[in-house]
Amino acid sequence: QVLTIGLTGGIGSGKTTVSNRLAHLGAHVVDADEVAHKITGAGGIAMPAIEAAFGQAAVRPDGAMNRDYIRTLAFDEPATRQVLEQILHPLIRQTIEQALHRVTAPYCVLVIPLLFEKGGWREVMDAVVVVDCPVELQIARVKKRNGWPEAQIHAVIEAQATRATRLAGADFVVENHGDEADLLAQVDELHKKLIKIQAK
Ligand code: ATP
Repeated sequence: QVLTIGLTGGIGSGKTTVSNRLAHLGAHVVDADEVAHKITGAGGIAMPAIEAAFGQAAVRPDGAMNRDYIRTLAFDEPATRQVLEQILHPLIRQTIEQALHRVTAPYCVLVIPLLFEKGGWREVMDAVVVVDCPVELQIARVKKRNGWPEAQIHAVIEAQATRATRLAGADFVVENHGDEADLLAQVDELHKKLIKIQAK
């Protein structure tokens, strides 16, 4: 199987910027959030189980998951998120593992924002890349990008693994506390290392 590199980091740390660069350099990129979105779209493989668990109201007329309904349901019934997760996680895994078999690029990057929060991912990967940056920078970048109030950003960061936890699980660290040119230069170096590992 193709060399498989996990890519993770906190909200606003720079994962998308890094994975876009790696894709540009020739990596095959698979994003777990995109897979989750696809399997809950019209005709998605998760839809039969979602309808069975939450009823017809959870399915929009076009066949996609009704995200607003699920959000409201989760507000009233906190177990909803867990039930949804139990449906989605194995299907996301299955979809990603199938995708890995078809990769012809020299290596594959799996973008898993919650790699350290959700179990079971590490065994699919040969190595883990963590995009790291100080919490203050995460807040500033998300504020600028999403226009969210600081309290909302703090709440997301609180719910995620700490910097220390992520760094402890990293095989490679990309430090994103400089400008974008500095970030991209590190990514180019990382790509060279991965190509070398892949060639062995
Ligand atoms: P999320 O977890 O929210 O999806 P992410 O980890 O994918 O975020 P990005 O979207 O890559 O992070 O970056 C967050 C924001 O910060 C983006 O608007 C991006 O353009 C900007 N950004 C990232 N790195 C830098 C940098 N080094 N200098 C300036 N802006 C940056």
